[in-house]
Amino acid sequence: ISKDFQQMLDAHDQLTKFYHHILVNTTDAEHALQYLLDRGFTREVIEKFQIGYAPNQWDFAVKYLKKYDASLMEKAGLIIKSEKGDKYFDRFRDRIMFPIYDRNGNPIAFSGRTLGDSTPKYLNSPETPIFNKSSTLYNFHMARPSIRKTQHSVLFEGFADVIAANRAGVENSVGTMGTSLTDEHLAILKRNSRTITICYDSDSAGIEAAYRAGKMLAGANCTVKVAMLPDGLDPDDYLNKYGEEKLQHEIMQASVPFMSFKLIYHRRGKNLQNEGDKLSYIEQVLGEIAQLGNAVEKDLYLRQLSSEFSISLDALKMQEEELAGRQT
Ligand code: ATP
Ligand code: MN
Ligand code: MN
Ligand code: MN
Repeated sequence: ISKDFQQMLDAHDQLTKFYHHILVNTTDAEHALQYLLDRGFTREVIEKFQIGYAPNQWDFAVKYLKKYDASLMEKAGLIIKSEKGDKYFDRFRDRIMFPIYDRNGNPIAFSGRTLGDSTPKYLNSPETPIFNKSSTLYNFHMARPSIRKTQHSVLFEGFADVIAANRAGVENSVGTMGTSLTDEHLAILKRNSRTITICYDSDSAGIEAAYRAGKMLAGANCTVKVAMLPDGLDPDDYLNKYGEEKLQHEIMQASVPFMSFKLIYHRRGKNLQNEGDKLSYIEQVLGEIAQLGNAVEKDLYLRQLSSEFSISLDALKMQEEELAGRQT
């Protein structure tokens, strides 16, 4: 580990502590702390996730990181060089700071949320020598023991969602931080757990993303479940509306096998009384059945289709085999 690398880690560690201190102990950050408390963040999770506040100053981090080489801090994504190149200023200003950790618990990046409606809502550190977004899962360092013990991980889209899950007692929670699931994320999840529950936002973007992530995970032979929250809510909204026990129940008890999710997914927006919609639904479901590796599962879902739509099992099997043949 090189000296530069170590200094970038040290700078993140110190800045994480300082931003957190500002949030919990200073009057400059009263509005930021109030914002979090109003959103239902407890002091306990603010502590556990080392949430902080970056003051509304141009040179707060610049000054605090003075003992490091400025161009190294720029490389670490913490400060930015002015257009003219004559001075540096802070990347994160007037934002709630979520430190992002590597698997060993070192802070390697930040995501800063605006307190209002300014864009972007979340501002992330750029890719740096110590931060590779596509191979980082938010909260993996704290979730790992419980993930390994239970062989189960729960996957969320957002920071607030992972934190909400923790408040609901679901500690084996990790987040993709808004990006789609990558092969590197998948490898980490697969190495540490057999079962993965996807708990994305229940808006249409989240449902599409859950379908894609589920395909990847199932394709890697993981057991996939999906927690489907009602009314377009995300897990954090759900917690604030219905409480901790209900969120835990949605994730741990009410989640459904991936195939059940796919049936619901393909049914969305269709009127199954309509002949054309019905045929396209059956074809889509047969396509999914064709991808199942397990003969018993295939048989189960073929029989379900057969009885639901009063179509002969033989006809369904024939078409399913044709689709399976086309896919291989
Ligand atoms: P909040 O509850 O704080 O409003 P959210 O997590 O519900 O945020 P979403 O819009 O659902 O926000 O986005 C999910 C995740 O995607 C965020 O947690 C964040 O990691 C990422 N994200 C959202 N907006 C942006 C953005 N403009 N730039 C980068 N990442 C973003
Ligand atoms: Mn503290
Ligand atoms: Mn959301
Ligand atoms: Mn949210």
